[in-house]
Amino acid sequence: YSQEEKSEDYLFKIVLIGDSAVGKSNLLARFARGEFYLNSKSTIGVEFQTQKMDVDGKEIKAQIWDTAGQERFRAVTSAYYRGAVGALLVYDISRHQTFDSIGRWLNELHTHSDMNVVTILIGNKSDLKDAREVSTAEGKALAEAQGLYFMETSALDSSNVAAAFQTVVREIYNILS
Ligand code: GDP
Ligand code: MG
Repeated sequence: YSQEEKSEDYLFKIVLIGDSAVGKSNLLARFARGEFYLNSKSTIGVEFQTQKMDVDGKEIKAQIWDTAGQERFRAVTSAYYRGAVGALLVYDISRHQTFDSIGRWLNELHTHSDMNVVTILIGNKSDLKDAREVSTAEGKALAEAQGLYFMETSALDSSNVAAAFQTVVREIYNILS
């Protein structure tokens, strides 16, 4: 086969959304670069990162968008959402307030993008067992009620990070193919 046929057929735009400091930038840093930052400031500045992935032997480029901290001011623009086919909707299991914001983020996502954008609800910081404020059952129940995929992750210890991104990419691929 030619080089053209071998090159990627798919480019999926996926957005990271959720309250400030839930770990969005670190989930991306962990997934795309295998890195973790204790100080969140060091993660600011990346607009998106493109990651090659494999689904059923097909090469897929996941273009994963991260905010530059503008969610702090509720100022995530429509350009951020434009063309997104997937979303990771992230809260922090150690801060219930970030879970309470999920409904608002879901509204914003549906206002700015296609209704059937593949969405996974992510309870991040699963390593913070002693500080947990949102139970796994609570996360699961919301996901089921809203028709979302669900996973708890830790960008710190890597648990479920790749699985979360792979779930979204695989499901987008299944819908499109
Ligand atoms: P963002 O504002 O949503 O992008 O959040 P950041 O990725 O900047 O993370 C905010 C803070 O939470 C930083 O101090 C990170 O080191 C920390 N953090 C991110 N993910 C995890 C995690 O899975 N576990 C723990 N314990 N801390 C995390
Ligand atoms: Mg960030």
